[in-house]
Amino acid sequence: MTAPARARGSQELIRAEEPVLAHNYHPLPVVVARAEGAWVEDIEGRRYLDMLAGYSALNFGHRHPALVDAAHRQLDRLTLTSRAFHHDRLAGFAERLAALTGTDMVLPMNTGAEAVESGIKVARKWAYDVKGVPADRATIVVAADNFHGRTTTIVGFSTDETARAGFGPFTPGFRVVPYNDLAALEEAVDETTAAVLIEPIQGEAGVLIPDDGYLAGVRELTRRAGCLFVADEIQSGLGRTGRTLAVEHEPVVPDVVLLGKALGGGIVPVSAVVGSRGVLGVLRPGEHGSTFGGNPLAAAVGTAVVELLETGEFQRRAAELGTVLREGLAALVGRGVVGFRARGLWAGVDVDPALGSGREISERLMREGVLVKDTHGSTIRLAPPLTVTGEELRGALGTLEKVLTS
Ligand SMILES: *Cc1c(COP(=O)(O)O)cnc(C)c1O
Repeated sequence: MTAPARARGSQELIRAEEPVLAHNYHPLPVVVARAEGAWVEDIEGRRYLDMLAGYSALNFGHRHPALVDAAHRQLDRLTLTSRAFHHDRLAGFAERLAALTGTDMVLPMNTGAEAVESGIKVARKWAYDVKGVPADRATIVVAADNFHGRTTTIVGFSTDETARAGFGPFTPGFRVVPYNDLAALEEAVDETTAAVLIEPIQGEAGVLIPDDGYLAGVRELTRRAGCLFVADEIQSGLGRTGRTLAVEHEPVVPDVVLLGKALGGGIVPVSAVVGSRGVLGVLRPGEHGSTFGGNPLAAAVGTAVVELLETGEFQRRAAELGTVLREGLAALVGRGVVGFRARGLWAGVDVDPALGSGREISERLMREGVLVKDTHGSTIRLAPPLTVTGEELRGALGTLEKVLTS
Protein backbone atom coordinates (compact mmCIF):
# COMPACT_ATOMS: atom_id res chain seq x y z
CA MET A 1 0.00 0.00 0.00
CA THR A 2 1.23 3.52 -0.79
CA ALA A 3 1.86 5.78 2.18
CA PRO A 4 -0.35 8.90 2.33
CA ALA A 5 1.33 11.85 0.58
CA ARG A 6 1.81 13.88 3.75
CA ALA A 7 3.87 11.11 5.31
CA ARG A 8 6.43 11.27 2.50
CA GLY A 9 9.43 13.60 2.59
CA SER A 10 11.02 15.51 -0.30
CA GLN A 11 13.48 12.79 -1.26
CA GLU A 12 10.78 10.14 -1.17
CA LEU A 13 8.42 12.20 -3.35
CA ILE A 14 11.17 12.93 -5.86
CA ARG A 15 11.94 9.21 -6.08
CA ALA A 16 8.22 8.41 -6.42
CA GLU A 17 7.98 10.58 -9.55
CA GLU A 18 10.68 8.65 -11.40
CA PRO A 19 8.67 5.57 -12.52
CA VAL A 20 5.35 7.33 -13.16
CA LEU A 21 6.17 10.73 -14.67
CA ALA A 22 7.43 11.22 -18.23
CA HIS A 23 11.03 12.43 -18.00
CA ASN A 24 10.60 15.57 -20.10
CA TYR A 25 11.85 17.81 -17.25
CA HIS A 26 14.84 17.79 -14.91
CA PRO A 27 13.58 19.89 -11.97
CA LEU A 28 15.73 21.17 -9.14
CA PRO A 29 15.41 18.82 -6.15
CA VAL A 30 12.94 20.97 -4.20
CA VAL A 31 9.34 19.92 -3.49
CA VAL A 32 7.17 23.00 -3.11
CA ALA A 33 4.07 22.72 -0.97
CA ARG A 34 2.86 26.30 -0.52
CA ALA A 35 3.70 29.82 -1.57
CA GLU A 36 2.83 33.46 -1.03
CA GLY A 37 4.10 36.52 -2.85
CA ALA A 38 7.72 36.03 -3.88
CA TRP A 39 8.28 33.14 -1.45
CA VAL A 40 7.72 29.40 -1.71
CA GLU A 41 7.96 26.81 1.04
CA ASP A 42 8.94 23.17 0.59
CA ILE A 43 7.24 20.28 2.33
CA GLU A 44 9.79 20.33 5.16
CA GLY A 45 9.03 24.01 5.79
CA ARG A 46 12.20 25.49 4.21
CA ARG A 47 11.57 28.86 2.53
CA TYR A 48 12.98 30.00 -0.81
CA LEU A 49 12.81 33.30 -2.70
CA ASP A 50 11.30 32.50 -6.11
CA MET A 51 13.60 34.23 -8.59
CA LEU A 52 12.07 32.42 -11.59
CA ALA A 53 8.38 33.22 -11.11
CA GLY A 54 7.19 30.44 -13.40
CA TYR A 55 9.04 31.96 -16.38
CA SER A 56 6.88 35.10 -15.89
CA ALA A 57 3.63 33.17 -15.30
CA LEU A 58 3.89 34.51 -11.72
CA ASN A 59 4.59 38.17 -12.50
CA PHE A 60 2.22 39.19 -9.68
CA GLY A 61 3.69 36.70 -7.25
CA HIS A 62 2.10 33.60 -5.84
CA ARG A 63 -1.58 33.92 -4.91
CA HIS A 64 -1.91 37.67 -5.37
CA PRO A 65 -4.98 38.52 -3.21
CA ALA A 66 -6.85 40.37 -5.98
CA LEU A 67 -6.34 37.49 -8.41
CA VAL A 68 -7.23 34.76 -5.93
CA ASP A 69 -10.31 36.75 -4.96
CA ALA A 70 -11.41 37.11 -8.60
CA ALA A 71 -10.94 33.36 -9.09
CA HIS A 72 -12.87 32.49 -5.92
CA ARG A 73 -15.77 34.74 -6.85
CA GLN A 74 -15.93 33.27 -10.35
CA LEU A 75 -15.65 29.67 -9.07
CA ASP A 76 -18.79 30.28 -7.04
CA ARG A 77 -20.74 31.49 -10.06
CA LEU A 78 -19.74 30.04 -13.44
CA THR A 79 -16.59 28.25 -14.64
CA LEU A 80 -17.15 26.92 -18.16
CA THR A 81 -19.60 27.27 -21.00
CA SER A 82 -17.51 26.52 -24.13
CA ARG A 83 -17.78 29.10 -26.88
CA ALA A 84 -21.00 27.47 -28.08
CA PHE A 85 -22.72 30.03 -25.82
CA HIS A 86 -21.89 33.57 -24.77
CA HIS A 87 -20.96 34.20 -21.16
CA ASP A 88 -20.97 37.39 -19.16
CA ARG A 89 -17.21 37.70 -18.57
CA LEU A 90 -15.78 37.54 -22.08
CA ALA A 91 -16.68 40.92 -23.57
CA GLY A 92 -15.22 42.83 -20.61
CA PHE A 93 -12.02 40.79 -20.69
CA ALA A 94 -11.52 41.32 -24.42
CA GLU A 95 -12.32 45.06 -24.27
CA ARG A 96 -9.92 45.71 -21.41
CA LEU A 97 -7.11 43.56 -22.82
CA ALA A 98 -7.43 45.26 -26.21
CA ALA A 99 -7.34 48.68 -24.53
CA LEU A 100 -4.32 47.74 -22.39
CA THR A 101 -2.36 46.59 -25.43
CA GLY A 102 -3.55 49.36 -27.75
CA THR A 103 -5.22 47.03 -30.23
CA ASP A 104 -8.82 46.30 -31.14
CA MET A 105 -9.34 42.53 -31.33
CA VAL A 106 -8.62 39.58 -29.07
CA LEU A 107 -8.54 35.84 -29.78
CA PRO A 108 -8.53 34.07 -26.40
CA MET A 109 -6.68 30.76 -26.08
CA ASN A 110 -5.13 28.86 -23.15
CA THR A 111 -1.41 28.11 -23.37
CA GLY A 112 1.38 30.08 -24.98
CA ALA A 113 2.01 27.46 -27.65
CA GLU A 114 -1.65 27.69 -28.64
CA ALA A 115 -1.38 31.46 -28.95
CA VAL A 116 1.67 30.99 -31.22
CA GLU A 117 -0.13 28.35 -33.30
CA SER A 118 -3.15 30.65 -33.54
CA GLY A 119 -0.93 33.57 -34.56
CA ILE A 120 0.61 31.44 -37.31
CA LYS A 121 -2.82 30.39 -38.59
CA VAL A 122 -4.13 33.96 -38.54
CA ALA A 123 -1.03 35.24 -40.36
CA ARG A 124 -1.38 32.58 -43.07
CA LYS A 125 -5.11 33.24 -43.48
CA TRP A 126 -4.39 36.96 -43.73
CA ALA A 127 -1.71 36.31 -46.36
CA TYR A 128 -4.18 34.40 -48.56
CA ASP A 129 -7.30 36.50 -47.97
CA VAL A 130 -5.82 39.99 -47.78
CA LYS A 131 -2.31 40.01 -49.21
CA GLY A 132 -3.17 37.60 -52.04
CA VAL A 133 -0.37 35.05 -51.59
CA PRO A 134 -1.06 32.00 -53.85
CA ALA A 135 -2.62 29.04 -51.99
CA ASP A 136 -0.27 27.08 -49.72
CA ARG A 137 2.72 29.28 -50.56
CA ALA A 138 2.77 31.52 -47.46
CA THR A 139 6.05 31.74 -45.54
CA ILE A 140 6.79 32.98 -42.04
CA VAL A 141 10.23 34.29 -41.13
CA VAL A 142 11.50 33.46 -37.63
CA ALA A 143 14.75 34.02 -35.73
CA ALA A 144 17.45 31.52 -34.82
CA ASP A 145 17.55 30.55 -31.13
CA ASN A 146 13.84 31.28 -30.85
CA PHE A 147 11.58 29.76 -28.24
CA HIS A 148 7.90 29.75 -29.13
CA GLY A 149 6.65 26.55 -27.47
CA ARG A 150 6.55 22.82 -28.02
CA THR A 151 4.03 21.78 -30.68
CA THR A 152 5.30 19.92 -33.76
CA THR A 153 4.90 23.01 -35.95
CA ILE A 154 6.72 25.22 -33.45
CA VAL A 155 9.65 22.90 -32.72
CA GLY A 156 9.92 22.41 -36.50
CA PHE A 157 11.32 25.94 -36.80
CA SER A 158 13.38 25.79 -33.60
CA THR A 159 17.17 25.75 -33.97
CA ASP A 160 17.60 23.79 -30.73
CA GLU A 161 18.35 20.20 -31.74
CA THR A 162 17.15 18.83 -28.39
CA ALA A 163 13.74 20.37 -29.01
CA ARG A 164 13.53 19.05 -32.62
CA ALA A 165 15.35 15.76 -32.91
CA GLY A 166 13.01 12.80 -33.21
CA PHE A 167 9.83 14.81 -33.73
CA GLY A 168 9.74 15.29 -37.51
CA PRO A 169 8.39 15.53 -40.12
CA PHE A 170 7.70 19.21 -39.61
CA THR A 171 5.33 21.83 -41.03
CA PRO A 172 6.89 23.57 -44.03
CA GLY A 173 6.73 27.31 -44.72
CA PHE A 174 9.21 28.74 -42.21
CA ARG A 175 12.50 30.54 -42.87
CA VAL A 176 15.05 31.01 -40.10
CA VAL A 177 17.36 34.05 -40.01
CA PRO A 178 19.84 35.18 -37.34
CA TYR A 179 18.26 37.25 -34.55
CA ASN A 180 19.14 40.94 -34.35
CA ASP A 181 20.16 41.01 -38.03
CA LEU A 182 18.02 43.30 -40.18
CA ALA A 183 20.01 42.62 -43.36
CA ALA A 184 19.35 38.87 -43.08
CA LEU A 185 15.68 39.56 -42.42
CA GLU A 186 15.43 41.84 -45.44
CA GLU A 187 16.96 39.06 -47.54
CA ALA A 188 14.49 36.43 -46.30
CA VAL A 189 11.30 38.44 -46.76
CA ASP A 190 9.60 38.23 -50.16
CA GLU A 191 6.14 38.36 -51.75
CA THR A 192 5.17 35.04 -50.10
CA THR A 193 5.92 36.31 -46.58
CA ALA A 194 2.87 36.38 -44.33
CA ALA A 195 4.70 37.47 -41.20
CA VAL A 196 7.90 37.96 -39.30
CA LEU A 197 7.54 36.21 -35.93
CA ILE A 198 10.07 37.15 -33.24
CA GLU A 199 10.49 37.57 -29.51
CA PRO A 200 11.30 41.23 -28.65
CA ILE A 201 13.75 39.75 -26.12
CA GLN A 202 14.80 36.11 -26.46
CA GLY A 203 14.20 34.69 -22.98
CA GLU A 204 15.01 31.01 -23.36
CA ALA A 205 18.12 31.86 -25.40
CA GLY A 206 19.50 33.65 -22.31
CA VAL A 207 17.58 36.95 -22.18
CA LEU A 208 19.13 38.23 -25.41
CA ILE A 209 18.23 41.88 -25.95
CA PRO A 210 18.51 43.07 -29.56
CA ASP A 211 20.36 46.27 -30.45
CA ASP A 212 18.47 49.55 -30.15
CA GLY A 213 16.68 50.10 -33.43
CA TYR A 214 16.21 46.42 -34.28
CA LEU A 215 12.52 46.27 -33.36
CA ALA A 216 11.83 49.59 -35.09
CA GLY A 217 13.73 48.17 -38.07
CA VAL A 218 11.57 45.04 -38.09
CA ARG A 219 8.48 47.25 -37.96
CA GLU A 220 9.69 49.43 -40.82
CA LEU A 221 10.80 46.44 -42.93
CA THR A 222 7.57 44.48 -42.49
CA ARG A 223 5.48 47.57 -43.28
CA ARG A 224 7.48 48.15 -46.45
CA ALA A 225 7.28 44.47 -47.45
CA GLY A 226 3.55 44.32 -46.76
CA CYS A 227 3.76 41.50 -44.23
CA LEU A 228 2.77 41.26 -40.58
CA PHE A 229 5.01 41.83 -37.56
CA VAL A 230 4.02 39.23 -34.95
CA ALA A 231 5.65 39.78 -31.54
CA ASP A 232 5.77 36.84 -29.14
CA GLU A 233 5.42 38.65 -25.79
CA ILE A 234 4.39 35.53 -23.90
CA GLN A 235 7.36 35.86 -21.55
CA SER A 236 8.50 39.45 -22.15
CA GLY A 237 5.08 41.06 -21.93
CA LEU A 238 2.76 42.21 -19.14
CA GLY A 239 5.18 44.22 -17.04
CA ARG A 240 8.34 42.10 -16.96
CA THR A 241 10.63 44.60 -18.71
CA GLY A 242 9.28 47.74 -17.05
CA ARG A 243 6.66 48.37 -19.74
CA THR A 244 3.37 46.66 -20.49
CA LEU A 245 4.95 45.20 -23.62
CA ALA A 246 8.68 44.83 -24.31
CA VAL A 247 8.23 46.30 -27.81
CA GLU A 248 7.35 49.61 -26.13
CA HIS A 249 11.04 50.21 -25.40
CA GLU A 250 11.05 51.37 -29.02
CA PRO A 251 8.23 53.31 -30.70
CA VAL A 252 6.87 50.09 -32.18
CA VAL A 253 3.34 48.73 -32.58
CA PRO A 254 3.31 45.19 -34.02
CA ASP A 255 0.33 43.95 -36.05
CA VAL A 256 -0.14 40.99 -33.75
CA VAL A 257 1.01 40.40 -30.16
CA LEU A 258 1.00 36.98 -28.52
CA LEU A 259 0.36 36.93 -24.78
CA GLY A 260 0.28 34.13 -22.22
CA LYS A 261 2.01 33.20 -18.98
CA ALA A 262 1.29 36.20 -16.67
CA LEU A 263 -2.13 36.67 -18.28
CA GLY A 264 -3.31 33.70 -16.20
CA GLY A 265 -2.23 35.37 -12.94
CA GLY A 266 -0.39 32.20 -11.87
CA ILE A 267 -3.77 30.53 -11.43
CA VAL A 268 -5.04 29.19 -14.76
CA PRO A 269 -3.55 29.02 -18.25
CA VAL A 270 -4.73 32.06 -20.22
CA SER A 271 -3.26 33.17 -23.52
CA ALA A 272 -4.40 35.48 -26.28
CA VAL A 273 -3.61 36.72 -29.74
CA VAL A 274 -4.27 40.46 -29.88
CA GLY A 275 -4.18 42.58 -32.99
CA SER A 276 -5.98 44.84 -35.37
CA ARG A 277 -9.37 44.09 -36.86
CA GLY A 278 -7.77 44.05 -40.32
CA VAL A 279 -5.81 40.95 -39.27
CA LEU A 280 -7.80 39.05 -36.62
CA GLY A 281 -10.97 39.89 -38.56
CA VAL A 282 -10.01 37.26 -41.17
CA LEU A 283 -11.29 34.42 -38.97
CA ARG A 284 -14.84 33.17 -39.61
CA PRO A 285 -16.95 30.82 -37.44
CA GLY A 286 -15.61 27.28 -37.49
CA GLU A 287 -12.15 28.15 -38.83
CA HIS A 288 -10.42 28.13 -35.45
CA GLY A 289 -11.36 27.43 -31.86
CA SER A 290 -10.69 26.07 -28.41
CA THR A 291 -13.06 24.43 -25.94
CA PHE A 292 -11.43 26.18 -22.99
CA GLY A 293 -10.25 29.39 -24.65
CA GLY A 294 -11.82 32.43 -23.02
CA ASN A 295 -13.71 30.39 -20.41
CA PRO A 296 -15.39 32.33 -17.59
CA LEU A 297 -12.76 31.48 -14.95
CA ALA A 298 -9.93 32.39 -17.34
CA ALA A 299 -11.70 35.60 -18.36
CA ALA A 300 -12.31 36.59 -14.72
CA VAL A 301 -8.68 36.02 -13.75
CA GLY A 302 -7.43 37.62 -16.99
CA THR A 303 -9.57 40.68 -16.34
CA ALA A 304 -8.15 40.98 -12.82
CA VAL A 305 -4.63 40.74 -14.30
CA VAL A 306 -5.42 43.53 -16.76
CA GLU A 307 -6.79 45.60 -13.85
CA LEU A 308 -3.49 45.25 -12.00
CA LEU A 309 -1.57 46.33 -15.09
CA GLU A 310 -3.88 49.29 -15.81
CA THR A 311 -2.51 51.11 -12.77
CA GLY A 312 1.05 51.02 -14.16
CA GLU A 313 2.33 50.13 -10.69
CA PHE A 314 3.90 46.83 -11.71
CA GLN A 315 5.54 48.24 -14.82
CA ARG A 316 7.00 51.01 -12.61
CA ARG A 317 8.24 48.54 -10.00
CA ALA A 318 9.90 46.41 -12.69
CA ALA A 319 11.65 49.47 -14.11
CA GLU A 320 12.77 50.78 -10.70
CA LEU A 321 13.86 47.45 -9.26
CA GLY A 322 15.45 46.68 -12.61
CA THR A 323 18.02 49.32 -11.72
CA VAL A 324 18.77 47.50 -8.45
CA LEU A 325 19.13 44.23 -10.39
CA ARG A 326 21.42 45.75 -13.04
CA GLU A 327 23.63 47.52 -10.51
CA GLY A 328 23.86 44.39 -8.35
CA LEU A 329 24.89 42.27 -11.32
CA ALA A 330 27.34 44.90 -12.60
CA ALA A 331 29.10 44.71 -9.22
CA LEU A 332 29.55 40.95 -9.72
CA VAL A 333 31.18 41.20 -13.15
CA GLY A 334 34.71 39.87 -12.75
CA ARG A 335 33.69 38.23 -9.47
CA GLY A 336 32.15 35.07 -10.87
CA VAL A 337 29.95 36.77 -13.45
CA VAL A 338 31.46 37.11 -16.93
CA GLY A 339 28.58 39.05 -18.43
CA PHE A 340 24.87 39.70 -18.16
CA ARG A 341 21.93 41.18 -20.01
CA ALA A 342 19.07 42.79 -18.11
CA ARG A 343 15.92 44.74 -18.78
CA GLY A 344 13.39 45.46 -16.08
CA LEU A 345 13.18 42.57 -13.63
CA TRP A 346 14.68 40.11 -16.09
CA ALA A 347 18.28 39.09 -16.49
CA GLY A 348 20.40 36.43 -18.14
CA VAL A 349 23.62 36.01 -16.20
CA ASP A 350 26.67 34.26 -17.68
CA VAL A 351 28.59 32.66 -14.85
CA ASP A 352 32.31 31.84 -15.15
CA PRO A 353 32.18 28.22 -16.42
CA ALA A 354 35.10 27.40 -14.10
CA LEU A 355 32.68 27.88 -11.16
CA GLY A 356 30.23 25.30 -12.46
CA SER A 357 27.44 24.80 -14.97
CA GLY A 358 24.27 26.87 -14.76
CA ARG A 359 22.63 23.82 -13.24
CA GLU A 360 25.28 23.52 -10.51
CA ILE A 361 25.02 27.22 -9.67
CA SER A 362 21.22 26.85 -9.53
CA GLU A 363 21.56 23.92 -7.10
CA ARG A 364 23.93 25.90 -4.87
CA LEU A 365 21.54 28.87 -4.89
CA MET A 366 18.69 26.51 -4.00
CA ARG A 367 20.59 25.26 -0.95
CA GLU A 368 20.98 28.93 0.06
CA GLY A 369 17.23 29.57 -0.33
CA VAL A 370 17.04 31.14 -3.79
CA LEU A 371 15.32 29.43 -6.73
CA VAL A 372 16.49 30.20 -10.26
CA LYS A 373 16.62 28.30 -13.54
CA ASP A 374 19.66 27.71 -15.70
CA THR A 375 19.45 27.94 -19.44
CA HIS A 376 22.17 27.01 -21.92
CA GLY A 377 25.64 26.24 -20.54
CA SER A 378 26.64 28.49 -17.65
CA THR A 379 23.82 30.99 -17.98
CA ILE A 380 21.21 31.44 -15.29
CA ARG A 381 18.16 33.60 -15.65
CA LEU A 382 16.63 35.81 -13.00
CA ALA A 383 12.99 36.82 -13.26
CA PRO A 384 11.49 37.42 -9.81
CA PRO A 385 7.82 38.28 -9.32
CA LEU A 386 7.26 41.99 -9.95
CA THR A 387 6.01 42.17 -6.34
CA VAL A 388 9.50 41.41 -4.99
CA THR A 389 10.84 44.11 -2.65
CA GLY A 390 14.17 45.88 -3.08
CA GLU A 391 15.35 44.25 0.13
CA GLU A 392 14.44 40.75 -1.11
CA LEU A 393 16.15 41.44 -4.42
CA ARG A 394 19.32 42.68 -2.70
CA GLY A 395 19.19 39.57 -0.52
CA ALA A 396 19.09 37.33 -3.59
CA LEU A 397 21.97 39.23 -5.18
CA GLY A 398 23.92 38.81 -1.94
CA THR A 399 23.25 35.07 -2.03
CA LEU A 400 24.44 34.94 -5.65
CA GLU A 401 27.61 36.78 -4.61
CA LYS A 402 28.16 34.31 -1.78
CA VAL A 403 27.65 31.29 -4.06
CA LEU A 404 30.01 32.68 -6.71
CA THR A 405 32.77 33.95 -4.44
CA SER A 406 32.97 31.50 -1.55
C1 LIG B 1 6.62 29.97 -22.54
C2 LIG B 1 6.67 30.53 -23.90
C3 LIG B 1 5.87 30.02 -24.94
C4 LIG B 1 5.00 28.79 -24.76
O1 LIG B 1 4.09 28.92 -23.73
P1 LIG B 1 3.41 27.61 -23.06
O2 LIG B 1 2.34 28.18 -22.19
O3 LIG B 1 4.49 26.92 -22.29
O4 LIG B 1 2.91 26.79 -24.19
C5 LIG B 1 5.92 30.64 -26.16
N1 LIG B 1 6.71 31.71 -26.37
C6 LIG B 1 7.50 32.22 -25.42
C7 LIG B 1 8.35 33.41 -25.70
C8 LIG B 1 7.52 31.64 -24.15
O5 LIG B 1 8.32 32.12 -23.20
